Amino acid sequence: MDQIECVVIGAGVVGLAIARALAARGREVIVLERGEAIGIGTSSRNSEVIHAGLYYPRGSLKAELCVRGRAMLYDYCDARGVPYSRCGKLLVATARNQLPQLAAIQQKAIENGVSDLVRVSAAEAMEMEPQLQCVEAVLSPQTGIIDSHQYMLALQGDAERGGATVAFHTPVTDIDARDGVFILETGGEAPMRFQAACVVNSAGLYANEIASKMRGLDSRHVPPLYFAKGNYFSVSGRTPFQRLIYPMPSDAGLGVHLTIDLGGQAKFGPDVEWIQKIDYGVDPQRAESFYAAIRAYWPSLPDRALQPAYAGIRPKLSGPGQPAADFVIQGKAAHGMAGLVNLYGIESPGLTASLAIAEKVARMVG
Ligand SMILES: Cc1cc2nc3c(=O)[nH]c(=O)nc-3n(C[C@H](O)[C@H](O)[C@H](O)COP(=O)(O)OP(=O)(O)OC[C@H]3O[C@@H](n4cnc5c(N)ncnc54)[C@H](O)[C@@H]3O)c2cc1C
Repeated sequence: MDQIECVVIGAGVVGLAIARALAARGREVIVLERGEAIGIGTSSRNSEVIHAGLYYPRGSLKAELCVRGRAMLYDYCDARGVPYSRCGKLLVATARNQLPQLAAIQQKAIENGVSDLVRVSAAEAMEMEPQLQCVEAVLSPQTGIIDSHQYMLALQGDAERGGATVAFHTPVTDIDARDGVFILETGGEAPMRFQAACVVNSAGLYANEIASKMRGLDSRHVPPLYFAKGNYFSVSGRTPFQRLIYPMPSDAGLGVHLTIDLGGQAKFGPDVEWIQKIDYGVDPQRAESFYAAIRAYWPSLPDRALQPAYAGIRPKLSGPGQPAADFVIQGKAAHGMAGLVNLYGIESPGLTASLAIAEKVARMVG
């Protein structure tokens, strides 16, 4: 049977960052990806925002890894020529009764070490963004946007230069972890069976399923998973906004916000649609609720301007109405199995946090 030192399951942004980090530490690495290319899962179905770290509870992995990951990501983009823009974002209260929530987010950000937020009056905000409507806002200068595909290509290039291999069309179908090593089976056109000393399960929406089928891993360590689809609508033409506009967060999401891509094209979303099965279709009927949400901060959004764009699905560890869950990154200390790291619930801000997650996982692997 072939042997390999480290297997990373999944060539999304997190799996690629982990492969890069392990290869840089001299580990022999293969990334197993069931799809035909990198980033075909959640990593190409998101807002491409580099988050500052405003929303997450102090001491949570999301807070720690977002703030550290954001700094690492900007440095990495500079070093590797990955396109990005530190365009900033305005977090807006559109009614007076939202002011306590705005103040609470600012306070949480300070606790997370994000100390450069600026409270701006309605007049100042509307001077920055003439089409905006709000009663008060907070400017986050560290928030930005990134070309996430170029970022993933750079990670893949680094990992491969460090000796890693990325194998496509290679779904992991079985893992037997009962004898202190990992025996993996893969499907696809060229099924394989081989032995690994360490396995990092970074399969995004499928990570819980892979772990729950892993023989030798106690299933009580595998958290339940919920799917929260986020739909996006686009507006054609260049946007009149220079910065990202975020309303107050609500119901398991950050609110229907305006993000801009590096070409100056605006998109709105994601909303929150709880689903049972993975399905990326966007129902055009959802546009109605988007018009209402967007016009709270952009009253002059023209009629019939919104077009269905795409959807992503959040791998959530908390269901409807439950308090937001943190990232779960389980190593030996959690499940008792040396060489195994399972990553669960890597929703937003997983793109921003990817380099910091990778650093943490590489340390856990040892
Ligand atoms: C709507 C939405 C908006 C978001 N916006 C942002 C944002 O603006 N900023 C931010 O920082 N974060 C954002 N995120 C979060 C971010 O996109 C994710 O945290 C990140 O992409 C997760 O990457 P991943 O590598 O863990 O998962 P994925 O990208 O899903 O990669 C997992 C990979 O595993 C592969 N795989 C699955 N099963 C198997 C198997 N059995 N064998 C082999 N391969 C397998 C899949 O094909 C896939 O390629 C958003 C998420 C969503 C859903």
